Amino acid sequence: MVLLQSHGVVRLIFALLLLSSFLLIIYNFRSISSRLPDLDDVVSGGHTKFRRPKTGGSLKGIDPLLEPEKGPSGKLYGPGEVNRTSATILSLVRNDELEGMLQSMRDLEATWNHKFNYPWTFINDEPFSKEFIERTSKEAKHTRYEVIPKEDWEVPSWINEDLIQESSDLLTENKVQYATMRSYHQMCRWNSGKFYHHPALKDIRWYWRVEPKVHFFCDIDYDVFRYMEDNDKLYGFVINIYDSPESIETLWPQTLEFLAEHPEYLHPNNAMDWLSDSKNRPEHNHKANGYSTCHFWSNFEIGDMNFWRSKPYEDYFEHLDRAGGFFYERWGDAPVHSIGLGLFADKDKIHWFRDIGYQHIPYFNCPNSPKCKQRCEAGRFTDGTGLDEEDCRANWFEMAHMD
Ligand code: GDP
Ligand code: MN
Repeated sequence: MVLLQSHGVVRLIFALLLLSSFLLIIYNFRSISSRLPDLDDVVSGGHTKFRRPKTGGSLKGIDPLLEPEKGPSGKLYGPGEVNRTSATILSLVRNDELEGMLQSMRDLEATWNHKFNYPWTFINDEPFSKEFIERTSKEAKHTRYEVIPKEDWEVPSWINEDLIQESSDLLTENKVQYATMRSYHQMCRWNSGKFYHHPALKDIRWYWRVEPKVHFFCDIDYDVFRYMEDNDKLYGFVINIYDSPESIETLWPQTLEFLAEHPEYLHPNNAMDWLSDSKNRPEHNHKANGYSTCHFWSNFEIGDMNFWRSKPYEDYFEHLDRAGGFFYERWGDAPVHSIGLGLFADKDKIHWFRDIGYQHIPYFNCPNSPKCKQRCEAGRFTDGTGLDEEDCRANWFEMAHMD
């Protein structure tokens, strides 16, 4: 009897605690939101040249990629005009992806890197094979081969194995891609919060992420890392798409919990309107509990590792890592990076590399430029497999800068 009563008291205290932390989160979030500009202010702020029709998300007929491509404005340096900056091309890759890696290397060397000779850093969770090293080193002037420290790749100690099993059944039921592939979850976690601490990258600032089997179509004649540095950019992307909400159901609630603890981390010129947009594809926002799911597609990234190394992002990653969603759900590094950028970065420092012709199956970025030598059709977005509705580039174009 006494035991039952004390259980009741414990439950009551627990319920009160839960209620008060919930109220605290709501309160903090409202005070954060009230400091944000209205969506209308952002759209009509005079920054953008882009307007989409009132209905529909399609860019057909109004695609900025159909305009003749002139390259970015700002300081640009051609080959030999300036010293290389502190940067590397970066590929996390498996030994058995060698052929695909060679193909990506040939494309990027031919269109860009043979003019600048930035080093390639290959990283793997196990040692690279002799064949991998021999063949990739023939494709570029400088190549390096690195292994991930075990503790950065392993599933962290606080993750519960039984809970992973249970959750993976649910993810499979919800048709989440790679739900049961443990290494995929590890890869997403490593790309979200570990890669920039690899000892081989310690003294390097900029990286260009390149995956096996991607294509680069258009000649780029300037040093893109110097462009980023000289023009005070933090992050460059080519493609924006929606994520599968089933893979990140608690990512946004966890993000709001973190923001409530650290409202001071929110950048005054953030992209909260982009992150929390619910006008376009509202059902995605609904299923992802308040996040639009629109993200920078992270198989292509040109970025400043010092942003990921900054306290707001590091604390954010730590919070997410403790919450466990890299394993209990299937949080991708793309939404995690995108939310980190959208909240803690100045959105004017995010650059759309519209001039870099790119493909990672099944999406393209194809500018209208003689530099693409007709290797890809201007304005093409998908490979024709009916994925047009996944395109959310218009959201970024509308709510943030076009350049
Ligand atoms: P997708 O693009 O989301 O379908 O995923 P990928 O299979 O292309 O993986 C993303 C990147 O991580 C690619 O560069 C892969 O080579 C790399 N990757 C994925 N899993 C592993 C892994 O277990 N080990 C290593 N070394 N690389 C991996
Ligand atoms: Mn890939």
